[in-house]
Amino acid sequence: MRTSKPFLLVVSGPSGAGKTTVIAGLLPLDPLLKRSISMTTRPPRGREKDEVDYFFTAPVDFEKHKSENLIEWAEVHGFLYGTPRSFVLEQLAAGFDVVLEIDVQGGLQVKKLFPEAALVFILPPSLEVLESRIRGRGTDTDDVIRQRLENAQAEIEAAGAYEYMVINDQVERALDRLTAIIEAERCRRSRYTGEFELT
Ligand code: ADP
Ligand code: 5GP
Repeated sequence: MRTSKPFLLVVSGPSGAGKTTVIAGLLPLDPLLKRSISMTTRPPRGREKDEVDYFFTAPVDFEKHKSENLIEWAEVHGFLYGTPRSFVLEQLAAGFDVVLEIDVQGGLQVKKLFPEAALVFILPPSLEVLESRIRGRGTDTDDVIRQRLENAQAEIEAAGAYEYMVINDQVERALDRLTAIIEAERCRRSRYTGEFELT
């Protein structure tokens, strides 16, 4: 039985910073946390699976969902991405915190709709490390890599409203930092739902 109101944890950061990796590490450690699965018009890459990593969607279908079924959506690197509303609302109602791995444009839309959301930005230790991680992932062409690196600086500059900056130098250390943030967020007075009446 939890004693804090469930909340949304937005995780953003440049492509290759390690968002997917740290969230995958976090979920088994935290039974109160669920990961939202986004809808995208980007084709699957590497070993990605439909309905697990993303809902891979044709552009014409994405357009249909955009106005009614998504909490937020944005164009990133030439493709459309959005967060399905029903899953997020159902999980919050069922008592789970929900982690959204979305870009900064989406994060800011979420913060407007859900002011209690916590915004976390994942940073690589340096631009050089970022590039070597994207290359090491082996899933993107040179053109795509160049575009993602160009976007990285712009994304960092746009992240002024983000409340937490987590450097992902080593996965274990980044996980410790995220775990600490989540615990602190659950302890916020404004989220308290325990049996004592706070004045
Ligand atoms: P993002 O989801 O932010 O685009 P990924 O999680 O796909 O990034 O990580 C990009 C690449 O970097 C992957 O190959 C991943 O295994 C690797 N990686 C992630 N975090 C670290 C880390 N702390 N140290 C070394 N490699 C990492
Ligand atoms: P990738 O193509 O590398 O999986 O993701 C590219 C970017 O799109 C990342 O910054 C990722 O966080 C963002 N993204 C993924 N899903 C969503 C979403 O539902 N909404 C928004 N706004 N961005 C998303």
